[in-house]
Amino acid sequence: MTVIGIISAKGGVGKTTISANLGIALVKALGKRVLVIDGNITTPTLGLQLGMLSQEKTLDDVLEDRDTLQDSTYIHPSGLHIVPASLSLRQPYPDPEKLKDKLVEVRDKYDFIIIDGAAGIGREVISVIEASDSVLVVSNPELSSVVAAIKAIKVSKSLNVPVIGLAINRVENKKYEMKAEDIKNLTESDIVSIIPFDKNIPAGVKQMEPAFLSKNSRSRRAFIELAEYVSGEEIPKQGFMQKLKSVFRH
Ligand code: ADP
Ligand code: MG
Repeated sequence: MTVIGIISAKGGVGKTTISANLGIALVKALGKRVLVIDGNITTPTLGLQLGMLSQEKTLDDVLEDRDTLQDSTYIHPSGLHIVPASLSLRQPYPDPEKLKDKLVEVRDKYDFIIIDGAAGIGREVISVIEASDSVLVVSNPELSSVVAAIKAIKVSKSLNVPVIGLAINRVENKKYEMKAEDIKNLTESDIVSIIPFDKNIPAGVKQMEPAFLSKNSRSRRAFIELAEYVSGEEIPKQGFMQKLKSVFRH
């Protein structure tokens, strides 16, 4: 089992989008057993992206020792397992540092646990990084989020948690966007995923159905390739000729 944290020091870059859609890609395209946890305890949106408006049990109950992680796990129609965080305003919020220990209970049940991180580099984010075996850093192709990515990379390295690489999200290939090569040089990290701007993503959030599940989604291929990359597996691609041959074989 591998725990992957999805992080950046900036909000709005696509951490939650990637957590949800990478999770579904791992389940649907690669047949993996995947749990996604909302590690953004103060401003959680993972449940919302996955169509869960209210949950009886959340990560907050787990961190406050009222319930087990298993008790707070919900199953999305895609087959993805989710632990949402509570949407209600709390004072104080539960201690995120317990997250790493809480994962022990479900280690054998999953191939991957993905943790959706908060913005910033505070305790909430540090707890996500510490609970992860490695982290995927998310950025958009613009300077302020690249700077935030560099911060996230530095914090992860200082905590001795390896960085898988960067996912550049919301790429439109516009002239004013930063080039992948420049982002790679600035961050001194590999770019492991380029996710295009896809109107199905905000539309999917509104309809509470992740973009990956809509077949004509522009970003679908990028999520499959990212799933292949993180799992080290490639899906055998059935080309047209192969398909034709298999038709005639019968
Ligand atoms: P974060 O978790 O980093 O704060 P979100 O995943 O919530 O960011 O995404 C922020 C907003 O950007 C959301 O409204 C989402 O729909 C939109 N978004 C994310 N990725 C893309 C994309 N590739 N194309 C278009 N819109 C996107
Ligand atoms: Mg988020």
